[in-house]
Amino acid sequence: MKIKFWGVRGSIPCPGPLTVKYGGNTACIELRLNDPERLIIIDAGSGIRELGNHMMAHDLPRGPIRTEIFLSHTHWDHIMGFPFFVPSYLPTTKLKVHGPFNLEGESLEEAMAGQMTYRYFPIRKDWLAADINYIELKEGQIDLKGGVTLRTKYLNHPIMCLGYRFEYNGKVVCTAHDTEPYRNLFAAGPDDPSHDETMAAEGELIAGEQNKALEDFFTGADLLIHDAQYTREEYETSKKGWGHTSIEHACETASRAQVKHLVLFHHDPMRTDSQLDRLAEIHCAPGRYGDMKITLAREGLELEP
Ligand SMILES: [Zn+2]
Ligand SMILES: [Zn+2]
Repeated sequence: MKIKFWGVRGSIPCPGPLTVKYGGNTACIELRLNDPERLIIIDAGSGIRELGNHMMAHDLPRGPIRTEIFLSHTHWDHIMGFPFFVPSYLPTTKLKVHGPFNLEGESLEEAMAGQMTYRYFPIRKDWLAADINYIELKEGQIDLKGGVTLRTKYLNHPIMCLGYRFEYNGKVVCTAHDTEPYRNLFAAGPDDPSHDETMAAEGELIAGEQNKALEDFFTGADLLIHDAQYTREEYETSKKGWGHTSIEHACETASRAQVKHLVLFHHDPMRTDSQLDRLAEIHCAPGRYGDMKITLAREGLELEP
């Protein structure tokens, strides 16, 4: 498998002189297999625009390429590039768009169409000429054919959000954007009138089990691309419940899951290149978590697990 990062930010694109090195586009990752007529894309943030342009210049002149998009969820930073993905305007394109089913009573297709109404964009979804299939996923295992197996796992985020585990040719690539550690929802503290000893103990147990299940999902991955929007200090002081993970928690989780290479992803849009360089010095130093390699995602980064 070959991976290329086209967008590594969370929340909103942040182009400008302070984000040149790591890039300002939101989530989009390309995954290539040995089959040159097939392409997997994880998330359709603003980075997918450049990927689409790259496909137009390099892939599509040789013929159509079967394209499968896997959306972690439909928050805007993960779908905003879709209307600018030029291959979807070609009648020769076969496109499958996968994403989590949701509890809001709206299909995945309707959620994607929502940003392509006249109020927000001049072109409607129905004008996309490609043959597009929308496929809603739940937790489970799917045979994607051609030797690719996909496992999916719900993450802890304000809307339905899926982590992915792709297995191909003996290699494993996992993604977890966006997610927050599970917390004890009944830990009111002994001084709080609503405190219930039994509920607090039960809540602690459940949160622990949920975090362990996610860790198990990543077990032995050759590559794990994980939400790391905040530092632990930022998370503990003001970001609890925002749906994201600290760098430290991502590293500890990956280390326990015996991941070989962790890529820290979904950088906060406020983070400048020099701040990210500093975080890399601290958290990506060799040997910090045994043999596990740790890298900060940046636009253009290519990896071959
Ligand atoms: Zn996000
Ligand atoms: Zn999100």
